[in-house]
Amino acid sequence: MVRKIVKLGDETLRKISKPMQKFDLRLWLLLRDMADTMYNADGVGLAAPQVGILRRVVVIDVGDGLLELVNPEIIETEGEQGGAEGCLSVPGRRGFVVRPNKVTVRARDRKGKEFTVTGEGLKARALCHEIDHLDGVMYVDKMDHEIFEDEEEDEEDKG
Ligand code: ZN
Repeated sequence: MVRKIVKLGDETLRKISKPMQKFDLRLWLLLRDMADTMYNADGVGLAAPQVGILRRVVVIDVGDGLLELVNPEIIETEGEQGGAEGCLSVPGRRGFVVRPNKVTVRARDRKGKEFTVTGEGLKARALCHEIDHLDGVMYVDKMDHEIFEDEEEDEEDKG
């Protein structure tokens, strides 16, 4: 089920999300709805606060399949990349944001099993962007400058 995406200006986006304690049907329905909502909006990532749920849950798909992350934490970063970034909660706008080029994240899966995932390039950007949402941080807080339509950038993350 596609849920309504909360937009910049809504206080929910500025709150700290709580860790998931139970890995039950309620979580699985949230994950399903978050994936539906992300794909419907043509995004590459979505965090639970963006659908009004203050829980540490993220979905990402940069084109290599759906990644579900529960209680994710960045445990290692490497390098640096600068590029265009957007957000489904900030429609129609993009900014130039510097992020690590490679990140490793530790998280739990939908059944509570711990795993780690490493992403480079766009995937690293998406991981950083979505995990920031869980702490009430938006890309607009970190951007160097706004990117306008006539400036072409080759990389984009709508999360
Ligand atoms: Zn976002």
